[in-house]
Amino acid sequence: MTAKSLFLCGFSEFQKTLADLEMPAFRAKQVRDWIFRKFVFSFDEMTNLSLPDREKLKKAFPKILPPVEKYLQDRDGTSKVVVKLGDGELIEAVAIPDEDSLTFCLSTQVGCAVGCVFCRTGEMGFKRNLSSDEIVLQVMLLVKRTGKKPTNIVFMGMGEPFFNRAALFEAIDVLTDPQGLGLATRRITISTSGVIEGIAELMDRPGEVNLAVSLHAADNATRTSLVPLNKRYPVAKLREAIAAYGERTSRRVTLEVVLLKNFNDQVQDAMNLVSFCEGLLVHVNIVRFNHFPGSPYDPSNEKDEKEFRKILKKAGVAVTVRKSRGQEILAACGQLAGKSDDQEKK
Ligand code: SAH
Ligand code: SF4
Repeated sequence: MTAKSLFLCGFSEFQKTLADLEMPAFRAKQVRDWIFRKFVFSFDEMTNLSLPDREKLKKAFPKILPPVEKYLQDRDGTSKVVVKLGDGELIEAVAIPDEDSLTFCLSTQVGCAVGCVFCRTGEMGFKRNLSSDEIVLQVMLLVKRTGKKPTNIVFMGMGEPFFNRAALFEAIDVLTDPQGLGLATRRITISTSGVIEGIAELMDRPGEVNLAVSLHAADNATRTSLVPLNKRYPVAKLREAIAAYGERTSRRVTLEVVLLKNFNDQVQDAMNLVSFCEGLLVHVNIVRFNHFPGSPYDPSNEKDEKEFRKILKKAGVAVTVRKSRGQEILAACGQLAGKSDDQEKK
């Protein structure tokens, strides 16, 4: 039995493992075809393998995928998978289909230490980092569920991805391995609450992974009140990191702004944001606040949101509004909390 999960074995390591088990050389490609092209996750269903080889594989890799605690399906097509990890912790991953895309939203930690005041994950505090395997497993479980490869991956589930960089980057390497799922780096987006070391590390990595920064406010007082991490990485430093990233990569950074009624949605807030954006290669994505049980915050009202957008547009800042998906099953941004008792809609 091997300690390593099948997904984390690169192709050559997998070939070697199978050779050690005295299987013919072509088996490795057959097995990977079943998994990564046909999305079959049980050795018993791999009908072109001999029975003795299936048995050997079952012993070597007893669980290709962990058991799923729960699948939830929203009426808008969004589905959420809740997985119980080896130590009993629960994590969530979400599949969001759209007209011509399928986006998987992944978690990188159980809980989160950053503690943004409007985020349900932040409320639960930090429990632990996920391993690279646990990150990749979320994708494979959603592939199994939807029967499709995602067109996009966003690290916008539970946790601060840049506080778990080693596992995050290893998982990205596995997901983009042409002999595995072969996803394109430019279809992957990491969303950070502003961890500067992570931004610096990402810009030095090969590939074209996209960066989104959860800015929410462009002045220190407001931002610190929403994202406590701002004390460690204040607005000016964060801006420098985004500028350096843009210069190095020529890739446009998304600035995410969750608009909360009377907290960060006023004219002055929009003007601060305009100043922040000046000279940067960025676009602003306005995110409607997703309410969750017990939250004291409200989404910005339509009039204020419209005015906010107008100020940005007038100043030449590109701005989009993110559609909220999966709200009924608490699968939308900031609603994930690793609970299996969330409302079930079938
Ligand atoms: N920790 C990372 C990534 C996960 S959060 C980050 O903060 O960027 C993904 C996105 O959801 C972030 O932009 C975050 O600000 C946003 N978010 C958190 N809580 C939310 C809520 N209740 N409603 C809407 N968006 C929320
Ligand atoms: Fe953590 Fe992101 Fe939630 Fe903030 S918004 S608490 S960084 S998961």
